[in-house]
Amino acid sequence: MVTAQTLAELIEDDSVMEAEQISEAETDCPECSGNVLEVGYMPSVTEFVTGQKCQDCDWAATDRN
Ligand SMILES: [Zn+2]
Repeated sequence: MVTAQTLAELIEDDSVMEAEQISEAETDCPECSGNVLEVGYMPSVTEFVTGQKCQDCDWAATDRN
């Protein structure tokens, strides 16, 4: 079972300071229609990002843009 911290680091491809609880995203993966997990995390003190990661493939996205 992946932890919030691990999931956030997978999405960020870097270490993160803090991660909130994992939740299920309402949307399916655009690549494979798999289950998408969502996690809010802080990559740095001044930034809060919501990231999404597919459970079945490598697809990941953040709300940065
Ligand atoms: Zn996928």
